[in-house]
Order: sequence, then C-alpha cells, then structure tokens
Amino acid sequence: MSISSARKSRHTASLEEEVEYLRERVRQLSRIKASLEKDLDYYQKEVEKLMSPPHIEAVVLEVLDQDRAVVKSTTGPNLIVNIASGIDRDKLRPGTIVALNSRGSTIIEVLPGRTDPMVKAMEVIERPNVTFKDIGGLEKQIEELYEVVVLPLKKPDLFREIGIEPPKGVLLHGPPGTGKTMLAKAVARETNAVFIRVVASEFVNKFIGEGARIVREVFRYARRRAPAIIFIDEIDAIGSRRVELGTSGDREVQRTLLQLLAEIDGFDPLSDVKVIAATNRIDLLDPALLRPGRFDRIIEVPLPDKRGRLEILKILARTARISSDVDLEYIARITEGMSGAELKAVVTEAGYYAIRSNRSIITMDDMLDAVKKVKNRIKARQRLGLTSI
Ligand code: ATP
Repeated sequence: MSISSARKSRHTASLEEEVEYLRERVRQLSRIKASLEKDLDYYQKEVEKLMSPPHIEAVVLEVLDQDRAVVKSTTGPNLIVNIASGIDRDKLRPGTIVALNSRGSTIIEVLPGRTDPMVKAMEVIERPNVTFKDIGGLEKQIEELYEVVVLPLKKPDLFREIGIEPPKGVLLHGPPGTGKTMLAKAVARETNAVFIRVVASEFVNKFIGEGARIVREVFRYARRRAPAIIFIDEIDAIGSRRVELGTSGDREVQRTLLQLLAEIDGFDPLSDVKVIAATNRIDLLDPALLRPGRFDRIIEVPLPDKRGRLEILKILARTARISSDVDLEYIARITEGMSGAELKAVVTEAGYYAIRSNRSIITMDDMLDAVKKVKNRIKARQRLGLTSI
C-alpha cells in the first residue's frame, strides 16, 4: 500500500467514527428532547391546573327538567343551574354531589358514588302540618314549650331587655307515641321555622364514622335556613352515660356526642336555631347533656290520663268518620295505659272494621272491637319485649 492510500484509509476510518459518534449524539439528544418535552407537557399542565379557576362542589336538591336542576352549593345559596349535555340524568338525584363549573352555572360532573350522608340523615319539613290544636292532653307541656322556645324565637328582644337567657335546648322525655315529635313540629310551625329531624340511633347504625360530621353539617344547615328547629330523636343512642370507651364504635359515639355538645355550647341562646331532643330513656342520659346551657329544660311527656285520652280521641275524630253515637268518654275510660299513637291505632282498626262491613262510618261496636284488638297487640308486643305499637 502506498503512503497516500494508507493515509486515505485512516482518514476514512476516522470520519466513520465521527459519523457513528454523531449518530449516537443525535440518538442521545432525541432521548433528552423527548424527556424534556414530557417535562414541559407536565409543567404546562400543572400551570394550567394552577391557573384554572376552581370548580364548585354542590348537592343536587331537585332536578327541574332535562336541562336544569336546583342545587345547594357549598359556598352559599340554592342555585338553579344548567345540566351539561354529557351528564347522565339518571345519576342526578336529590343528594347527589356534583361539580359546577367555576361560574357556578352548570353541572359539569357527577362526583362518583357520593351522596351526602347529611342529606340522607336529615328529614327537612319546610312547614309542618301539625299545630298545637292537633295535640291532646299536653297543655302544660305546650305552655312550657311556648315560654322556652316559641317566645324567645318570636320575641328575642323581650329577653334581651329583661336580661335573661332562655335554654338553648329542650329535652322531651316519655314513653313512645306520646306526641314528642308532634310537639316539636308544632313549635316549628308556630314560629315559622324549618323543622329538621335527625334520628340519633342512625348515626350509630347507618352512618357509621360520619356522626360527628353530620352533626356539624346539620347545625350549619340549620343556621343557614334559620329560623330552624333541630329535632334530635332517640338522643339516648349517642347521649348515654359514658361507658368504658373500649371499642372504636364507643369512641365514635363519643365523638358524635362531643360534637353535639360543642355545637350547642357554640351558639347564642337567643339565636334563631333551637334544639329539641327526645328520648324514652332519660335514665340513660349522660349528665353532660343536661348541664346548664345545654338541654337544661326537661319536659316530661307522659302517657295521657283519661282526660288526655278523651281529648286525643276527639282530635282523631275530627278526621276519621266516627258516628255521633260513639261514646268517646267510655272509650277513653277503657283505654287506660294507651299512648296517643295507640289510640290512633284503635281508630284506624275501627275504620278497617267499618270497611269490612261495607260501612263508611265507624260505629261503637267497631271501636270496642278495635280496642280489644289493639290491647291484644300491645300484650303480644310486650311479651316480645317490644315497647311501642
Ligand atoms: P316516639 O317516641 O316513638 O318517637 P313520639 O312521642 O314522638 O313517639 P309522635 O310521633 O309524636 O310520638 O306520635 C305518633 C302519633 O300518635 C302521632 O302522629 C299522632 O297521630 C298520635 N299522637 C300521639 N300523641 C298524641 C297527642 N298527645 N295528641 C294527638 N295525637 C297524638
């Protein structure tokens, strides 16, 4: 090989190396480019997320038609909003949690699998249809409720002027079916307040782990909808005397109770939210609940005496068609020990006897047969250890 050709081939080899090196560099830089593009994409998306206005969470209250719904936004009032076209209408039910666009004008997403437990836990009645006139034999209780709940709601200034504080909470206690719920509803009606009922035992059985949150939300809801009466039924389920806090279930009940106490402690006695609780088992209640400033007014709602039973029967006779020869006084005498709910069951049974005999009016015989039947039913339930009818 001549000197010049040897040089040429060395030169060629080094050029090939150079080409290979540059190819490798191109491959490397392509990989770096792809990775940087990925980073760029990520950061661009993050910037978009940071810059985009937030969506608003809301709870559906009512679907009006194909295109519109009423929602309760977590930020404020009830809104009538549009439903975006991609939304599955079947998923929109009262209580469904949805996302609104940032202007709050349109439902843009159904948040998966969530119905607000607070909505499920509450029964809300705008204007209960019970008045004090529909309640028999509880004049004293009505008078007391009038003074400690109705008057402060209607005329708070009177209390401010005199400088006394009405109780924040009232506890109604007595056997089942004696009219406790009716009393609370009638108070709400009398004060034009919204009636909000929660059943405390459901916190323990149905909404496990949510009790404290529901209590907080219910009070928040009540404040927003004020004037409001919060009626807590079966309060003994969360308000029983503290036991050893052995299980997590006990601790959960305890947390729910503490939240309830905190809510009651936190509001002004002259605010327009009042709490009425009810129990059949006052003997079980934690004294912390009954301390001044909490449920410090305790009203007993006992089984009706004969006069009370007669009054309840007369009230029931206003809506049921009872023949004028039915001796309600006698029926009141032979129904000793029955609650209002049981008397209602007597009238209902009597109505069935009339229907079976093809009559459209209830006779004395129907009533007497019905009393016997209801008494037997009560006895059977007592044998099973059940209380109410
Ligand atoms: P529970 O402790 O089981 O919740 P309660 O004391 O709240 O019962 P209510 O639900 O108010 O009882 O009453 C049940 C039904 O019984 C009422 O809808 C009503 O028809 C009748 N009733 C009970 N007490 C009375 C009463 N004093 N006057 C008229 N009706 C009554």
